[in-house]
Amino acid sequence: MPQKMTVVQCWDDGVTTDAPLIEILRRHGASASFNLNPGLHTAERSKGWVYKGTDVARLGWNEMKELYRGFTIAGHSLSHPHLEAIPVDEARREIVEGRKRLQDFFGQPVRGFAYPFGTYNDQVEALVREAGHVYARTTKNDDAPFPPPNPMAFHPHCHFLSPAFWERYEAARAGGYFYFWGHSYEMIDSGMWAAFEEKIRRISADAMAQWGNLEELFLPAAS
Ligand SMILES: [Zn+2]
Repeated sequence: MPQKMTVVQCWDDGVTTDAPLIEILRRHGASASFNLNPGLHTAERSKGWVYKGTDVARLGWNEMKELYRGFTIAGHSLSHPHLEAIPVDEARREIVEGRKRLQDFFGQPVRGFAYPFGTYNDQVEALVREAGHVYARTTKNDDAPFPPPNPMAFHPHCHFLSPAFWERYEAARAGGYFYFWGHSYEMIDSGMWAAFEEKIRRISADAMAQWGNLEELFLPAAS
């Protein structure tokens, strides 16, 4: 019997639009990883930045445990610097301390990492690996086979808004997994949210696909 394709997704930056996103994911039984910067959150929601004329806000610690319950938490550094552009000791602290704070707060292992801005070099790769992560995601969209030749330079298949999303999805079947990523704040109107929900619904309805957990793809199979 042909194997089902495992579909994984991850979302960056811990923003308030992760709340409606998660409502959609829960409605359709989808799993996901969230890449967070524990150095940037405060107790309550806080002002972030402006994206295409829309205010982006960060989630407060007071809601994150409940919101992300049942989802996977992954690292994205403490404060979202260009890790390859800062002194190595600072980069190490960003990675190690970021992971520790997430593990302490959520009470679950943090095994995945996404490079802030998608940028890194060999030294940053080594720091991320040494800190205990099993993979690190870039922002380069690719159709590299799985497992990736270098798990510390793990390229997703595509961004969720890619016009080639379904084409890549179909092409990925042969490899047995499909990985997409994005930021929930990129959805700035109700049409985009509706289109997103339709995407998730369609994947959930695909009898030859199943939602999976990214980091588990890298862990030895349970015996
Ligand atoms: Zn980010």
